[in-house]
Amino acid sequence: MSGEARDACGVVGIYAPGEDVARLTYYALYALQHRGQESAGIAIGDGRSLVVYKELGLVAQVFDEIVLKSLQGHLAIGHVRYSTTGSSSWENAQPTYKSSPEGQIALAHNGNLVNSMELKRSLEAAGGDPTPEGARLPSSSDTDLVAAHIARANRGDMKAAILEVLPKLSGAYSFTIADGERVYGARDPHGFRPLCIGRLADGGWVLASETCALDLLAARFIRDVEPGEVVTIGPNGLESDHIVKPRHSACVFEHVYFARPDSNLMGQNVYATRYRMGQRLAEEAPVNAELVMPVPDSGVPAAQGFALTSGIAYGDGFVKNRYVGRTFIQPTQSMRQQGIRMKLNPVREVIAGRRVVVVDDSIVRGNTTRQIVTMLREAGAREVHMRISSPPIRWPCFYGIDMPDQDELIAARMSVEEVRAHIDADSLGYLSVEGMVTATSIPPENFCTACFTSRYPIEIPTEELRNKHVLESPQKQASEWYAGKTP
Ligand code: 5GP
Ligand code: MG
Repeated sequence: MSGEARDACGVVGIYAPGEDVARLTYYALYALQHRGQESAGIAIGDGRSLVVYKELGLVAQVFDEIVLKSLQGHLAIGHVRYSTTGSSSWENAQPTYKSSPEGQIALAHNGNLVNSMELKRSLEAAGGDPTPEGARLPSSSDTDLVAAHIARANRGDMKAAILEVLPKLSGAYSFTIADGERVYGARDPHGFRPLCIGRLADGGWVLASETCALDLLAARFIRDVEPGEVVTIGPNGLESDHIVKPRHSACVFEHVYFARPDSNLMGQNVYATRYRMGQRLAEEAPVNAELVMPVPDSGVPAAQGFALTSGIAYGDGFVKNRYVGRTFIQPTQSMRQQGIRMKLNPVREVIAGRRVVVVDDSIVRGNTTRQIVTMLREAGAREVHMRISSPPIRWPCFYGIDMPDQDELIAARMSVEEVRAHIDADSLGYLSVEGMVTATSIPPENFCTACFTSRYPIEIPTEELRNKHVLESPQKQASEWYAGKTP
């Protein structure tokens, strides 16, 4: 299979002659670190050659002053990769690089394709990966397959090759691409993952997964790359091509969890959206209690909204150690269980003797949430009421959020009451799908909500379904859901 492909990642593209492009890219990646902590990489071009530097680790671990100084050029792309347990390897780090007599290409991918098997077969049928890199290492990831297809389609015009290959892809992609002379940005027709355009004070261009990266570079937000659009940035400024008609199914989970609260997605500030989710949650799942507290950091905006609407006092019942990276928590299940204590410590004085409402953004496997309830009880909480600012996650994501196999999703196996009992909370309340979408202030038809509803905007090939251990046919489950049988 496409292997380690189901990544939500961060991508950057910079075109800025006369500026320290490596450093700008480094800063932008720094702002996108939350989107991926496994590896970081930059590909930089000076018009003649394209150089890639990538390594496992956080942005600040991968790049130092010496490396940044050695990366010279006027255009660059960058990537931070999300970690999935057990898949750490240098080969999966991006940008992906291919060279051929027709030119070099570097590609950074955020998202996941659902037709990688088909792409692999068609590449083989066409004669395989034509590049020296491909000869050394056969294409393994979906990103690598795309780069190989573009290299094969390139007959001296990289843009034409990109426009030829993208319509063959199915699934989620926000790409930044560099060919040594130009930088390209592309979003799939559904616009699953974000990608925005900004302008530097001196006229240079920035592409980034989130607007928080533009802020750090003091770049002015111009607009989002549209679903189904390819932008080309070069000496002539920005050109736009539309490959396919847009379908608009942006990932709603970006608004719930993934994006940084200081970013704007589709024109809406993420913090404000999460705050409204918390307000709505207080209306949908009210509770008698003395303290509202977040699970930091992801639960903070929703907890604040919950406190305002419920009238219950807000307090910080947990202190978070900000220096514990995900790398620390990864290796094994037992390490992961220990991990939560390294990260969060309850403040007994805030919690003891109180009935507390704990707000978090989502429950995936239920492991963390269960430990949180335990820790709060140990700290003397009289009652622990869990409130979640998104609906139960019942379906795997095929479009780039690392949701585990369906049999690991706790809400796919258990009713809300069973989940409550499992995490040992006094009560458990989730936000409704309607409440979540309404809180974004964006019309519902613009969203993919498949992980909550099983309404997948693209039909998923059976081979991909099998890889995700999907328990029942999504279509069947969806009709039950809408018949109101499932809570
Ligand atoms: P659980 O109780 O399911 O083990 O963990 C729930 C926590 O996982 C929540 O605090 C939520 O913010 C976090 N979470 C949700 N989605 C993701 C994700 O894709 N990656 C990581 N690392 N955490 C997530
Ligand atoms: Mg969290």
